[in-house]
Amino acid sequence: MNISHLTVDQDSDMSEYIPFSQGLYIGGKWRPSSDGRVIEVVDPSTEAVIAAIPDATLAAAAVEAAAQAAAGWRETPPRKRSEILRRCFELMTERAETLAALISLENGKALRDARGEVAYAAEFFRWNAEEAVRISGEFGLAPSGANRIVVDFQPIGICVLITPWNFPAMATRKIAPALAAGCTVILKPASETPLTAYALAALYEEAGVPPGVVNVITTSNPGPVTAAMLADARVRKLSFTGSTGIGRLLLAEAAKHVISCSMELGGNAPFIVLDDADLEAALDGAMIAKMRNAGEACTAANRLYVQAGIHDAFAEGLRKRMAALAIGPGTDSETECGPMITRKAVDKIDRLVQDAVARGAKVLCGGAVAEGRGFFYPPTVLSDVPADAAMAHEEIFGPVAPISRFEDEAEVIARANDTEYGLAAYIYTRDLAKGMRMASKIESGMIALNRGLMSDPAAPFGGVKQSGLGREGGQKHGIAEFMEAKYIAVTI
Ligand code: NAP
Repeated sequence: MNISHLTVDQDSDMSEYIPFSQGLYIGGKWRPSSDGRVIEVVDPSTEAVIAAIPDATLAAAAVEAAAQAAAGWRETPPRKRSEILRRCFELMTERAETLAALISLENGKALRDARGEVAYAAEFFRWNAEEAVRISGEFGLAPSGANRIVVDFQPIGICVLITPWNFPAMATRKIAPALAAGCTVILKPASETPLTAYALAALYEEAGVPPGVVNVITTSNPGPVTAAMLADARVRKLSFTGSTGIGRLLLAEAAKHVISCSMELGGNAPFIVLDDADLEAALDGAMIAKMRNAGEACTAANRLYVQAGIHDAFAEGLRKRMAALAIGPGTDSETECGPMITRKAVDKIDRLVQDAVARGAKVLCGGAVAEGRGFFYPPTVLSDVPADAAMAHEEIFGPVAPISRFEDEAEVIARANDTEYGLAAYIYTRDLAKGMRMASKIESGMIALNRGLMSDPAAPFGGVKQSGLGREGGQKHGIAEFMEAKYIAVTI
């Protein structure tokens, strides 16, 4: 698939640049679905159908291709695997503009967010190219003195990877460490945003990833297709990113076959601003934490708790910044807030806003569905959002910032922890000791202290409670999810 002609040009009709998928990507070949059925991909800015991709009914061929390639890839020297991964990083970096345009087109996110996503996604190849040659084992004497303990870390086996639509390139967070560890994979991207996954599959091939090492399938029937893959005894790993509800279903399915699972699930991040915070820094951070991807992020600030002394200045500052954002198609370089992914997503956001208002929240800006074509929702700030509002407990996944006032530290920690989720949290304070104390008490896999962004391939990304199991990225953490420890007892 050649996507090198895809360029960002505000005056052109983007539809003429769509790279139509040539098929499911299995064993290094592009194949149609068995019954010729397709899934239509919609541009969320215009609601126009922009591509049709194959709709797989079975994934047996993909598992077979991953199995055929497994021994060769596992035995490929780590240095060689590392060089191929490094080449994936270089090609993604060279084609960053093209990939960003494709992401904007199918997902709707603003180009500046899409550029950030490509850079972040590419970094997982660079990081894991470096990890691939640093996999080491353990050697020691048993406490009894009877034998030596040798621990070898081996690739876990064939991996099924399932990813959501909000970061179409984020599958690299799974593919890069899996390949670094020596595993072969089958990726099932979200039906709304499959084009980036297929474009990247072609790029991996160009970088030297052998046929069958990465396979990509799309399906409108993910439950049965995934269940069939997990039932194949050769599949040993499921790595899923998506909603907590689907994560629970998949954990149950994987349990039937005792398959190792990594789960990156939903979030409900608190964003806490203390009286002593630097107001401008807190506002800058809130705009990033809330508005990256127009709020369609698992780490998005979902509940903004602001201490009484700084509350009014913060609320007014955020209102001004949110109301000034440019709304439009993501592919327009001026856009700061693109459309939501679907009409259903807009309806959910509106339901949550209307519920909060009915319970006493005040609308400072936005607050109503935009007229016209495209799945747009305006940047919205609410104040006085009560603890029983539905949005205090559900992911908003949109450009809505609900502010609540608080008085003291103990109160805000209790409110921050009053959720089944525990993915990300943000704290703004000039008192580092206080910030660290609060960070240790907040039930969350990740905390950003005086920052609006925490994601980094070099740091372990993941949640606690219902936000997931396992970590992606980080020193050893991400790659460890794709390896098994083998213990050998040796008498010498
Ligand atoms: P989703 O509905 O759970 O879908 C995620 C993926 O699972 C898609 O590829 C989807 O395929 C697939 N899927 C749906 N039903 C399935 C089933 N029964 N069996 C197997 N696969 C199935 O989530 P989403 O709406 O796309 O994404 C948003 C969610 O992802 C939010 O909750 C967000 O917080 C979470 N998320 C978490 C992280 C993290 O790192 N923790 C990062 C990003 C997003 P189809 O598209 O074909 O339905």
